[in-house]
Amino acid sequence: MPQLKLAERVTRINPSMTLVISAKAKAMKAEGLDVCSFSAGEPDFDTPDHIKAAAKQALDEGKTRYGPTAGEPALRQAIANKLHRDNHLDYSPDNVIVTNGGKHSLYGLMNALIEPGDEVIIPAPYWVSYPEMVTVAGGTPVIVNTTADTDYKITPDRLREAITPRTKLFVLNSPSNPTGMVYSPEEIKALAQVVIEADIWVVSDEIYEKILYDGATHLSIGAVSPEAFEHTIISNGFAKAYSMTGWRVGYLAGPSELIQAVSKLQSHATSNVCTFAQYGAIAALEGPQDCVEIMRQAFAKRRLAIIERVRAIPGLSCSEPQGAFYLYIDISKLEMPSLDFCSQLLDEKHVAIIPGKAFGSEGTARISYATDMDTILRGMDRLEAFVKAHS
Ligand code: GLU
Repeated sequence: MPQLKLAERVTRINPSMTLVISAKAKAMKAEGLDVCSFSAGEPDFDTPDHIKAAAKQALDEGKTRYGPTAGEPALRQAIANKLHRDNHLDYSPDNVIVTNGGKHSLYGLMNALIEPGDEVIIPAPYWVSYPEMVTVAGGTPVIVNTTADTDYKITPDRLREAITPRTKLFVLNSPSNPTGMVYSPEEIKALAQVVIEADIWVVSDEIYEKILYDGATHLSIGAVSPEAFEHTIISNGFAKAYSMTGWRVGYLAGPSELIQAVSKLQSHATSNVCTFAQYGAIAALEGPQDCVEIMRQAFAKRRLAIIERVRAIPGLSCSEPQGAFYLYIDISKLEMPSLDFCSQLLDEKHVAIIPGKAFGSEGTARISYATDMDTILRGMDRLEAFVKAHS
């Protein structure tokens, strides 16, 4: 065997910890262990029937061939319609590319836009894959730490301070993974002002836009003003709102020149997203939307239950998320590195949660409550016993 000298771009990154831990939890379950998994942000609901029926029909109709790299024209049109209807963003199908999940839309963006020397501002706690994607593209992630004092949100001043002449992109994610925080319309407007003044790009990851609680609203930064629109790129997907994680359908919307560049990369990487899956996505956007609300209401009940349970555990605290299906907990009183806390919790109590370290923050951990109430209640009993034993 020749010497295996891996490319430096691979050695500089780590595997996705959310996927590693959820795979470990699944493997333990397969061994017969009773594991309560709160690891991957994956809704436990089945994909709604009308979406599955549309994909089945597409299969029966022979939609099993290669398709256009940027996506089926009908889906690109449906996405443009959705962005207009739901987000007040005026895009044509030429401004949209269908990608292999929301994750791959960001991967394509980073590789089409970022080059060595470019800085990308990422507020922490961040979703595990943002900095790694920037690194793979050869850029420099500039991490701006936030704390519970500002509800884990970046302020306009902090953003302004982080901007340098090398800044090319700011990554905004609201509702946020991992904190569940939602930027208010006023906060979004203030951030848009900084982006416009500095003349940088902002990518708005809106994958959790439909999962909101307690009257929180989602404003897309591109809808703030025509100037904000000119600086905005949208990333979104079907996984969370429609419980379609395994389908791998997402999209990117932005200037057509950028979309063409991402499409050029995609033509050499994946050719196109699974053709019949795209017909399921069309049904998701154009069919009845009550399934989204039914799932949201289930998350809302679980959210209240889990907040109550965590707050009753001496030594733990949490802020109140207004979106997504994550509870971000403060474990700093236990004075254990978050990685140790989570791996011991998994080994001793068979409860899987994600250490803050994965999200660029310490003294914290993320609990995904996209799981059934029984698992939530049993898991919180075990978490309580674990914290008691280690306090
Ligand atoms: N985005 C989800 C999470 O954060 C799924 C896993 C992943 O893609 O990272 O858990």
